[in-house]
Amino acid sequence: MGFGSVPTIELNDGRKIPQLGFGVFQIPPPETAEAVRQALAAGYRHIDTAAMYRNERAVGEGIRASGVEAGEVWVTSKLNNGSHRPAAARRAFAATLKALRTDHVDLFLIHWPLPTLYDGDFVSTWRTLEEFARDGRARSIGVSNFQPAHLERLAAETQITPAVNQIELHPYFQNREVHAYGRAHGIATEAWSPIAQGDVLGDPVVTAIAGEVGRTAAQVVLRWQVQKGNIIFPKSTTPERIRENHALFDFQLDSGQMTRIDALDRGEAGRRGPNPDTFAPSRLIAAIPPSVKSLIASAKRRPLGVR
Ligand code: NDP
Repeated sequence: MGFGSVPTIELNDGRKIPQLGFGVFQIPPPETAEAVRQALAAGYRHIDTAAMYRNERAVGEGIRASGVEAGEVWVTSKLNNGSHRPAAARRAFAATLKALRTDHVDLFLIHWPLPTLYDGDFVSTWRTLEEFARDGRARSIGVSNFQPAHLERLAAETQITPAVNQIELHPYFQNREVHAYGRAHGIATEAWSPIAQGDVLGDPVVTAIAGEVGRTAAQVVLRWQVQKGNIIFPKSTTPERIRENHALFDFQLDSGQMTRIDALDRGEAGRRGPNPDTFAPSRLIAAIPPSVKSLIASAKRRPLGVR
């Protein structure tokens, strides 16, 4: 399929994803169709949504209203945290396809690994996504917020290597270990909150570089992401910003400018979202019956080898 002027990145399954897309996290459903329509009019051909965002239906409406052929738009969605067990994952994926009014998505992700929930089992969830890949309803499959230890487990226990890992990554939190793991294992990195939801745009280093290249701070940070090889999908509901964030392919940062942004990394202190090793949505914890919680606790206390 053709994706207009945006470069593509080849995934480990041979498919090509547009490196720049449009994210719809926190866009209320009534505004989502119009935002998607505007993004497609501006030239985007890749939309990143999730069951959790509750706007998949509106994404489908926006694509249909745009006049762009559905086959020319890369659509990613994600499995919600309450649906990790295989039967629930199958129902959830069917609901995603129904909401989008399509028979397939380009990419389907496990949204969070949730290693402290579901008895630590995200492997059977991944095997269920492998089913979706085999039956063609998910053309590519991947994960989000997976740490190297989680990816190692998938490598040891399952058949398909995730095509992408979608992780928090921006100048203040460069998530270098996870990024390097992906690079070494052929897993493309998708950077979520690529401009840290706007927080990096006032940084003096970023604004100085913006002055040097005659671009906006957002364009500088997004261009840094592109030159790092990351796949990005900035979110905006402001028409000028939607267009601004798409205009990234007619200028470059030099190696000195890249290095100055690299130096903004604050390590773990720069993380804005939850830590994937511990993230467990409270409503899911609340749903675990007390009897099961005490079983998990006593299993953890038992010495190794004692059953
Ligand atoms: P972003 O880093 O894309 O920032 C979005 C914010 O920045 C909005 O407040 C927007 O304001 C503002 N903004 C956008 N463009 C500009 C600009 N040119 N100048 C100034 N301000 C600007 O944050 P997100 O958290 O939305 O991340 C992007 C996407 O990543 C999400 O939409 C989602 O698809 C994905 N994501 C995935 C997660 C996961 O766990 N897998 C977690 C979080 C995000 P306004 O809209 O008012 O213009």
